[in-house]
Amino acid sequence: MKKEWTIIDLVKWGTEFFEGKGIESARLNIELLLCDVLKIDRMTIYTQFDKPVAKQELARLKEFVKRRAAREPLQYIIGSQNFCGLDFVVNKSVLIPRPETELLVEKVIDSGKNTKLSTPRILDIGTGSGCIALTLGHNIPNALITAVDYENAALEVARENAKKLQIKNVEFVQSDILKNLLESTPYDIIVSNPPYIDHAEYGQSQPEVLEYEPKSALTEYADGLTFYLSFAEIFKELLTDRGQFFLEIGYGQESDILKLFREAGYSVSSEKDFAGIQRIIYGGM
Ligand code: GLN
Repeated sequence: MKKEWTIIDLVKWGTEFFEGKGIESARLNIELLLCDVLKIDRMTIYTQFDKPVAKQELARLKEFVKRRAAREPLQYIIGSQNFCGLDFVVNKSVLIPRPETELLVEKVIDSGKNTKLSTPRILDIGTGSGCIALTLGHNIPNALITAVDYENAALEVARENAKKLQIKNVEFVQSDILKNLLESTPYDIIVSNPPYIDHAEYGQSQPEVLEYEPKSALTEYADGLTFYLSFAEIFKELLTDRGQFFLEIGYGQESDILKLFREAGYSVSSEKDFAGIQRIIYGGM
């Protein structure tokens, strides 16, 4: 090893190393890890490219690179993910917020802002990191939001995010919503990004997902439709008469899910994400 490593040396070395390990977006990955270790933004990499990196920082970067090479998601290593402009703490107890879920949240924000209710009541089922509920809380300050999750470890992360982001209109509740109806029903809006990956397809996920993300946030160990079937039943009690629900769905599930809600008497529509995949189902009675 040579004596002194500069920022640009490390970017080049890391890019090659990650490429060799089959990591997608190798350069972006090493740059983001470096930014986290050096506490700088990406622009600074290029304005200070010939700056030497201290021994301690090098050791920390080496540790991070090792973890990423073992396919641990970048977000768990640096401990955060941006979602709708807010930074969320994440760890292996919670699903990493996905960009397509931002679309779901934007639709709920529009709906929440358009209601004439002075205090719309919103329920988020399976909140995980709290990214949906807290983004709604931030953007619809007059709303009162209840966010439920079955997993206490996830709720711990969600509560930490609420504290960090100083969002006070979201309450977190541990509950198995499919079994226990909440006491504070009904809600004006219900939103959920439930586990929807078919169990057989789940096995073909990238190692980052398969080996590190919480399985119960991704699949219900069945055909991916279990939650929607239950929702079609319980929303009858959980929603107000004019209440609306907004759900994320998986690739290829649109027609089955529209059908099951229509058969249960709801009026529903779907919407595509930016990749052209039908991603959201929304509607009401
Ligand atoms: N969109 C996620 C993925 O494909 C799945 C999220 C979910 O099951 N709700 O990894």
